Amino acid sequence: MAHITSKDLMFQPFVMNDIGVVELLIEFRYKYDDNLFLGGGSTLDVTGVKAVNQEVIATYASLDRLINQCNFTDQQLLLIKMVEKGYTHREISEAIGIENQNVKKALKTVYKAVVKENERQWRRVIYTSTLGLKTKQCNKCGEHLPATNEFYSDNKSAKDRLLSICKTCR
Ligand SMILES: [Zn+2]
Repeated sequence: MAHITSKDLMFQPFVMNDIGVVELLIEFRYKYDDNLFLGGGSTLDVTGVKAVNQEVIATYASLDRLINQCNFTDQQLLLIKMVEKGYTHREISEAIGIENQNVKKALKTVYKAVVKENERQWRRVIYTSTLGLKTKQCNKCGEHLPATNEFYSDNKSAKDRLLSICKTCR
């Protein structure tokens, strides 16, 4: 699983830390998909495309990665896909048979989760790369995460008082 690097952090935390920005990025995705550079699914193919804004590509790549790491349900992923393809809330409501209001609510939950995951990853890099805090490797996913309660739950019987599996894996 690819995670963000210090290089991504040059702009990403300031882009994805706002629910409204995440919402707009997802809503405008279809314009880029249709006209410019994005291939099928979430695969980026920029070969031969010179005029495209590299930051836009990088931003959508980061967004895709965040969405992948949010552990969304199939229905949440379907909602995201439909918004990305340019469907309105009303059209989504009619297509999947849930009320307009509930489409809005479900999407807000999704956008909030993306922002939360971005903040979590941002703190992870700051804690380890910048502050040099101690890390601990998760026994399940193998990620080296900060040895703090944000990433690992308490385990009073363990030497370091943390569980061996990270919160995301639990
Ligand atoms: Zn894990």
